[in-house]
This record gives sequence, C-alpha cells and structure tokens, in this order.
Amino acid sequence: MRAPAEAMSHGRPRVGVLGLQGDFALHAAALEACGCEASRVSLPEHLAGLDAMVLPGGESSTMLRLLDSTGLRSGIERFVRTKPVLGTCAGLILLSREADRLPRPTLGALDITAERNAWGRQVHSFCDLVDAPELGEGLQGVFIRAPRIRRVGKGVQVFARYQGEPVGVRAGRVAAITFHPELTPDRRLHEWFVREVAGLALSKSA
Ligand code: GLN
Repeated sequence: MRAPAEAMSHGRPRVGVLGLQGDFALHAAALEACGCEASRVSLPEHLAGLDAMVLPGGESSTMLRLLDSTGLRSGIERFVRTKPVLGTCAGLILLSREADRLPRPTLGALDITAERNAWGRQVHSFCDLVDAPELGEGLQGVFIRAPRIRRVGKGVQVFARYQGEPVGVRAGRVAAITFHPELTPDRRLHEWFVREVAGLALSKSA
C-alpha cells in the first residue's frame, strides 16, 4: 500500500540554519547528508514549519545585531525555548545565559557562561581530538577563535570535553559546542543532534 501524501511530504526532518552571517552552507550540506531537509533562516517567516534549528559559527556580536535589524529576535527567542536547537561556536555564545563584550543580550536558552575568544587570537585556532563518549572515538574538534565554557549551570550536562574542560553541553533539547563540526567530513555530531537531542527520525544514515 502507498503511504499517504502528507506522510511522504513530511518524511525528512526540516532543520533551519540561521543564515544571517557565518557558516550556513556547510551546515546545510551536513544536515542534507544526514537525511534532513535544510533551509536558510534569515527572515521571521522562514521559521514556520521547522522541526529544529542550527545556530552556526560566525561572529556573535554581528549576529546579535542582525537578529534585531531583521526582526528575527522574537521568533528565534520563542524557537529556542520550545524546539530543538544546536549552537556551534558563535551559536553557543548566542544560546548562553552570560557572555562577555556583546552589544545586545544573548538568547539565554542554556545556563552556561561563555568567554569569547578565550583560546587567543585567530593564529591560536586549532584542531584536535575531543572526548565525546556518546558519539564514539576519534571526533575532531576544529576550534576557530572559539569561546571557552567558564560555568556550567545545574541541569546542564557536559557531553564533550577537550583536555578535561567542557566543549559540548546539553540541557534537554538544546545542545551547544565550542567547535565547528561542519568543517570535517564526519557527520556524527549533526546526526546525533537530529536523532538523540531533537528526537527526529532519519530514514538514511550518514
Ligand atoms: N569569536 C567568535 C565570537 O565571539 C566566534 C568564532 C566562531 O564562531 N568560530 O562570536
């Protein structure tokens, strides 16, 4: 028997990637490779019908200004309080409750304190293995002017560490990491987010 048209049209999880500034395209490609339907979010109407979102890396101060000038802030604030979200690097800063030297308030969906650019300048960016037992061995972290997580609130779990310090955190359906998973061919982080954090079914494995 053929599946009803509605069921077929909503077969793939719909995941939006904030595309105001920063790394939209590679996240979208990674999500598509996992079996999701990825779309760019740059206006409030793009939020309709999404199952989950990724807030990518980039420059958090610029992104926060653009959230206001595009009118996206209130829609995104509502989204991060009700739907699954993954923040990476600048995206983690956006989701944090506290971060330093920003022109506008953060979204505050994760009870953590982030310190921006805390590994040093661009030349101190690096790539190394991170320890994330739930995801398996050999996960590479690409850290580009990355923040450090200076405080983890009650109710926030640490799922990834680098040299013992937290680099990946999760509270329910909100997860965030300080590195860039879209810059390696390894799709485990995106797939884990969609399946385990967002609880969405993927028919195809990466
Ligand atoms: N340094 C950036 C910030 O503070 C984050 C860098 C990144 O996303 N790669 O927003």
